[in-house]
Amino acid sequence: MPALFASESGRITDIRFWQSPEEAQIVVDISTAPRVSSVSRLKDGTLFFDVEQCVFRPGKQRYPLNNPFIEILTVQQKTSSMVRVFFRVPEGVEARTYVLPKNDRKGDRIVIFLREPQATQQQKRTATLSEIRKLKAENIKIVVLDPGHGGEDPGTQNNGIVEKNYVLNMGTLVKAYFDRDPRFKAILTRSGDYIIPLERRREIAEQLGADAFVSLHANYNRKKAIRGIEVYYESPKGAVGEAERLVAEMENMVDFGGAPSAIPATELVKKDIVEKQANIMFKSRQLAEKVESRLAGAVTTLPSRGTKRAGFKVLHSMAMPSILVEFGYTSNLADAGILKNYTCRTRLAQAVYLGLRDFLLGNIEEGLDTSYLSYIQAADERKKSLARAHEARKKKLEAEKKKAKKHLVKNGETLSGIASKYKTTVTRIKQLNGYSKKHVIKIGDTILIPAK
Ligand SMILES: [Zn+2]
Repeated sequence: MPALFASESGRITDIRFWQSPEEAQIVVDISTAPRVSSVSRLKDGTLFFDVEQCVFRPGKQRYPLNNPFIEILTVQQKTSSMVRVFFRVPEGVEARTYVLPKNDRKGDRIVIFLREPQATQQQKRTATLSEIRKLKAENIKIVVLDPGHGGEDPGTQNNGIVEKNYVLNMGTLVKAYFDRDPRFKAILTRSGDYIIPLERRREIAEQLGADAFVSLHANYNRKKAIRGIEVYYESPKGAVGEAERLVAEMENMVDFGGAPSAIPATELVKKDIVEKQANIMFKSRQLAEKVESRLAGAVTTLPSRGTKRAGFKVLHSMAMPSILVEFGYTSNLADAGILKNYTCRTRLAQAVYLGLRDFLLGNIEEGLDTSYLSYIQAADERKKSLARAHEARKKKLEAEKKKAKKHLVKNGETLSGIASKYKTTVTRIKQLNGYSKKHVIKIGDTILIPAK
């Protein structure tokens, strides 16, 4: 019997720790999908949870972490088939645990997610906001630089480049240019090796009332010959998804009251959202073009593939123009060589700074992104015509029902038998009666028979 259990057991293969200024994560890697108990508390305040059918080879290990989020972590083989994970957090720290299923990049994991106390979060937020208000009053432009990936998510890894580290370095270099220019304040979404959810990255920029948002990345392609810089801004399709999400969100809010109006509230909200989004996208294009034209000339041996549009989640903002820069392809040997060269890196960083400066201090044109508007219109038309077709089908069915004969099901009758008796088909009978594919008729049922 024990042998049987052993083959079914999971094994803890690694324990990793990530920390940002606001939160920390402990990631426990497991060889199979774990069965985890809910978190309990010991009398002395220590928290713990159990992982069933699991083996921890070292038997017992203590990790004295002693940082603002967690004091100590202990992992212990409690019984032959159960591992208990103990942890102590300072007062006020929020702790949540998740089980993350394996995907194509990572195995099964248990994640302990720790966040600084609410009060501290609030204090920091208030302090930042009052500083930002001061900057805005002095007409200082706020730029948010977003080094992609981080922590658990390394991004692409090729030819000696790990994207998360590379873009953090690039972000720091770009910020250094802004720090020397008193007309700007640049803020990084992350300043260390930790992950930030995509929505949080743009929320940071939105909360700061940023004038521009730039996400920094390096690209990868299986075709190693592909190379060059790309500057992306929001695509109509990506924006439509976001507009729909917002409308749905507002719709739920509207449901909780409010006076009825001649035009449904969601229509007004949608029009407003679409216009705002179209205006931001119009400006994002200008920002993308300015940054691309600076980047294209920054390193003569590094070609530019121009500006492009894509539905990247991190770009779905209606608050400020947003772009995503891919500095080159790590999968291409020539690009990788250039990206690793310090002189080239400073030139690329300077180009991003200059492009943003050109945009923020230049004349930003007002207007609406017409391709987005026509995309929205086409999507609306498609929806309306689908609704019309559905309505027509319903009407036709109603008319057929009125003309239909009725049949009372008797013992031993089958749907196919009835169909052949009335010289019609099973499919037509099912359609008319609204039966599902698997529907079974019973004795005594009255069924509608299509008229010829
Ligand atoms: Zn990336």
